[in-house]
Amino acid sequence: MRYLILSDIHANRAALDAVIAAARGHYDVILNCGDVVGYGPDPNYAVAFCRELCRHTIRGNHDKAAVGLTELEWFNPVARTSALWTGGVLTMENADWIAALPQGPQEVDGFSLVHGSPVDEDEYMVDLSDAEAAASGAHTSLLFFGHTHLQGGFQLHRSGSRMIRPAIITVDDGSLWFMNPGSVGQPRDGDPRAGWAVYESASRTVAYHRTEYDIDDTYHRIVDAGLPEVLGLRLYRGI
Ligand code: ZN
Repeated sequence: MRYLILSDIHANRAALDAVIAAARGHYDVILNCGDVVGYGPDPNYAVAFCRELCRHTIRGNHDKAAVGLTELEWFNPVARTSALWTGGVLTMENADWIAALPQGPQEVDGFSLVHGSPVDEDEYMVDLSDAEAAASGAHTSLLFFGHTHLQGGFQLHRSGSRMIRPAIITVDDGSLWFMNPGSVGQPRDGDPRAGWAVYESASRTVAYHRTEYDIDDTYHRIVDAGLPEVLGLRLYRGI
């Protein structure tokens, strides 16, 4: 089975469309590590896509914020503005779907999906030490996560651990593998291209990908929606 792993779509329609076009023919099912909405101008489009096409979607912090499941004072002003705007434009049906999304970890065919970490869905695993601290929460040797918008991950092994740089990685049961496909809709690793990954269970490989998309389109839709311009500008720099 080939799993297309998506995370942090953030209501970016142009990025999502470009990823799906690029991934066509390379996957059997789609899995989603959360943050379908927030920041971006097309939350209903992103939700409709996930409702119809993702086999599993778990909730992210921005999904919770958009439907009132979290306190907005934890958010910076720009994120708060976008959460309120998103909550206002979501259809009732789509808001209900988001509100009912499961919390990770979600186990799928022997591996897991989490948004932040297996211990705390809102925690950021940025460094190796963050991953080591979260290892106790892992119940499978392979986990996909998001939240940081940084493509790559961590391999934890008793004789040494390492950060994983995007490439084609073969996983096994001798290590604990935390793999981040990168963010579809708002990359923050300095590469503005949309991030995604494919896990092929037969060969046990995770392949990381980046895809260019029409950032101008998303920028203009952000501005036209009345969302903070900085949310469009940051997309050009991948920060
Ligand atoms: Zn996010």
